[in-house]
Amino acid sequence: MSVYWSEKTRRLQPYVPGEQPRDRKFIKLNTNENPYPPSPMVVEAIQKAACNLRLYPDPFCTELRETAAATFGVKPGEVFAGNGSDEILAFAFAAFFNSIAKSGTETPAGNSPILFPDITYSFYPVYAGLWDLPYRAVPLRGDFSIDYSAYLGKSGGIILPNPNAPTGMALPLEELWKIAAAAELDKRVFVLDEAYIAFADKEGIATALPLIKEFPNLLVVRTLSKEASLAGLRIGFAIGQVDLIQGLFRIHDSFNSYTMDRLALAGACAALKDASYYKEINRKIIATRGRVSAGLEASGFKVLPSQANFIFASPPASYGKGGQEFYAALRERGILVRHFSKPRIADFMRISMGTDDDMDAFLEVCGKIINEK
Ligand code: PMP
Repeated sequence: MSVYWSEKTRRLQPYVPGEQPRDRKFIKLNTNENPYPPSPMVVEAIQKAACNLRLYPDPFCTELRETAAATFGVKPGEVFAGNGSDEILAFAFAAFFNSIAKSGTETPAGNSPILFPDITYSFYPVYAGLWDLPYRAVPLRGDFSIDYSAYLGKSGGIILPNPNAPTGMALPLEELWKIAAAAELDKRVFVLDEAYIAFADKEGIATALPLIKEFPNLLVVRTLSKEASLAGLRIGFAIGQVDLIQGLFRIHDSFNSYTMDRLALAGACAALKDASYYKEINRKIIATRGRVSAGLEASGFKVLPSQANFIFASPPASYGKGGQEFYAALRERGILVRHFSKPRIADFMRISMGTDDDMDAFLEVCGKIINEK
């Protein structure tokens, strides 16, 4: 704490991102990055754009939004682009959810809390803290699935990741439809964070983009960090009806008109145009996920059914220790995964899918740790 900090700065509990080690070479399975390189077209486009850095970028991201609209099957006015989906989520919290009213300016949303799961992306409570938004963390069911019926009542708005993180478990489109419909009755916004939807392959699990036409309160948030191997370039999108997109622009233009630089704009356009390349690498990741899940289950691990590019797993009871110890044992052997010390999930580790060679090494080391215990 510093005497120079504002009251708000003192109150904040900032997000802690996964480790990006610099001291030592790890098999890095801790931050859900795509293990395959981005499309060669991305690098080429960035090199070209680097010749023109003297001028400011387009604050409206016109070309990128046109390209994204064609990809997502919507109009350019229904797309917002941002500096990673984290930035878009931060804007969405500010644009659509009401802060704790201070001056008797009750809006239709009143002071009802926003809703999100108790076990979910840990940035959501941080954004709620940043913007002074009341929230309620809704418990997952015993099997770690999201109980959609808990999101049908009165609220100040809803945010869900689908698939959820760190569980990897996903809701079917028909349940998302019911949540959107219930929220629309009360004119509440439903933000659906689809950071990992490109890795879904189960019947009934799919992007909610087709629901945008039907629901003026639905905002779908996507990112190129995982599905397009561009975590380092910082590109996210929000897709929704024009009113919602305009709401995001009001926050954007009250914050920083140039959140997307010229390199990111060029690289993102090129990535969107090389869909066949990404389809192929993401198909490989889905296959690896199936193989690794089966391998861990065969060794007695509990593995939640994942639709993402990571799995959430806990070591067998015979190991005799918890997730923290297993995480540390992996780290010692040069493999980095993510562990969260939260009560219900302390026995679990989140394991991002690497290349097949990475995952062979991972499975081998897991076997050794269990046998050595
Ligand atoms: N949503 C979820 C559920 C995530 O796990 C992440 C990655 N940490 C993000 C959003 C943010 O991704 P990015 O800012 O890289 O687009």
